[in-house]
Amino acid sequence: MIVVMKLSATGSEIERVEQRLEEMGFKSHLIHGVERIVIGAVGEKKIAFPTGLELLPGVEKVVPVMAPYKLVSREVREETSRVTVGDLVFGGESLVVCAGPCAVENEEQLVTIARRVKAAGAHILRGGAFKPRTSPYSFQGLEERGLAMLARAREETGMPVVTEVLNPQDGDMVARYSDILQVGARNMQNFPLLKELGQIGKPVLLKRGPAATIEEWLMAAEYILAEGNDAVILCERGIRTFEPATRNTLDISAVPLVKLWSHLPVIIDPCHSSGYWRLAMPLSMAAVAAGADGLMIEVHHRPEEALCDGPQSLTPANFQQLMRSVAQVAPVVGRCLVPPTGKRGGENEH
Ligand code: PEP
Ligand code: MN
Repeated sequence: MIVVMKLSATGSEIERVEQRLEEMGFKSHLIHGVERIVIGAVGEKKIAFPTGLELLPGVEKVVPVMAPYKLVSREVREETSRVTVGDLVFGGESLVVCAGPCAVENEEQLVTIARRVKAAGAHILRGGAFKPRTSPYSFQGLEERGLAMLARAREETGMPVVTEVLNPQDGDMVARYSDILQVGARNMQNFPLLKELGQIGKPVLLKRGPAATIEEWLMAAEYILAEGNDAVILCERGIRTFEPATRNTLDISAVPLVKLWSHLPVIIDPCHSSGYWRLAMPLSMAAVAAGADGLMIEVHHRPEEALCDGPQSLTPANFQQLMRSVAQVAPVVGRCLVPPTGKRGGENEH
């Protein structure tokens, strides 16, 4: 349920409600809306209405939350959440684009790609140091060495970085190097990992599982918010369907549906969803038109030599073309694509 406080509610009235909720066996989460404060109350208990909380000073009303996910629901927060990473904001007017190689392969590869995606207008550098591969014989990533390379690429270019955490035990280590912690599709329901990232408190990019419903995806996000971390960005990356022509099927309808059901920002990954670089541009344009808050794109300067996901990686030139096309669609839906503001490196390269 949510307790909606009056506009005039004082700090001590809010505290009194939180205290009462605790006595009733609920955990409370303060949600600062544009106008007023709402207290989200979550717990295992069922509650009968009226709850008695309605009588406390400063309380406007108490409303049950019907969705199974609570803190991520639009019912508790009308405005889209803004997740801030440095001076970038997911969920604002400006789209945020993460781009980079599937995997960190070596420093030269990473810095080359970082400079080129930045020059084309990307805001955040992506690159996996821990790679969840279908085959145990495939390249598994450079692990901590790869994380250190990401940190150096950030220094070189001024771009924040996003990278995947595979294990709960690695959470703190990855957080020392990365600005955003990515939960990969295969780990969407790794509940110990979600809880760990909820406690670390850095922004989390939560990919949708290839066989997860939207509700299961939002429930996974709920695990992170329930631990006190509300900086969650959702990423639709395609689901498994009967269609073998693409690697997965990008569920475009997930974008407006997530926007209806949840206040969390949502971005799309057209590379893992299609498995084919040629589809990345049209899918990105479609997703932005459907209301996505950003994109995640795989880029490699030599896709044919990439250690991972070459066929779905764009060359820097193709990525630049994608950015131009997306910049044309954005204003049609009231969005924009502003260039990154970092001052170091790469600005004049193509
Ligand atoms: C990735 O983005 O590096 C990745 C492995 O994607 P996914 O988890 O969506 O398969
Ligand atoms: Mn990949």
